[in-house]
Amino acid sequence: MGKRLYAVIGLGRFGGSICKELSREGMEVLAIDNDEEKVNEFKEVASHAVIADSTDEIALRDLGFRNIDHVIVAIGDNVHASILTTLIVKELGISTITVKAQNDYHEKVLEKIGADEIVHPERDMGRRIAHSIISSNILDYLELSDEHSVVEVKAGDRMDGETIIDLDIRARFGCNVVAIKRGKDINVSPMADDVIEKGDIIIVIGSDKDIHRFEKALV
Ligand code: ADP
Repeated sequence: MGKRLYAVIGLGRFGGSICKELSREGMEVLAIDNDEEKVNEFKEVASHAVIADSTDEIALRDLGFRNIDHVIVAIGDNVHASILTTLIVKELGISTITVKAQNDYHEKVLEKIGADEIVHPERDMGRRIAHSIISSNILDYLELSDEHSVVEVKAGDRMDGETIIDLDIRARFGCNVVAIKRGKDINVSPMADDVIEKGDIIIVIGSDKDIHRFEKALV
């Protein structure tokens, strides 16, 4: 199988950061923006950087878009251009399309036209930061669905020296401890009698409501 080919459309802060990271990881990336200055910034970063208006189907065809495996549509404020671009890319038969959504209405339209993955970087990052503001022991927060999440918390005094069964996390809060990290070691199938130490990083999965109760009681 040949190397996967990526295209990033829109080289603002979000698209630019994706483009840089994919390139840093050695991926082949076609970077596109209709702003010449932006494109010049990425000439040295991406495998190819071209000026094009992604709402122009012929322009995308001419760039050989049919050979791209995964397109990231990272057009920010211009919702109309983002939707039209996604539609064109979809029609060109690209197998995977990731689109940055600006708001709920935008997301609904993107779902309807078949975007494979819709991301809300500002909203999600805002939520993650809010959780770490509430408690400095909440290290990370990943939304699995509208109602379920995974949180990474640092064990403090309330968990120090206790086993999972002592803390009775599943029965009391309905959440599951899926892993315990201690320094470089990671225990991915913790047993009921495994002891938690202060400073351990505990990864817990559950409904938002249950995780919230767990955080209030033990974190
Ligand atoms: P961010 O919030 O991630 O910085 P921006 O809205 O600033 O997002 O960036 C979006 C980028 O998308 C800009 O660089 C802009 O020039 C580019 N862009 C907008 N419309 C098109 C289009 N039709 N074709 C190609 N690039 C576009």
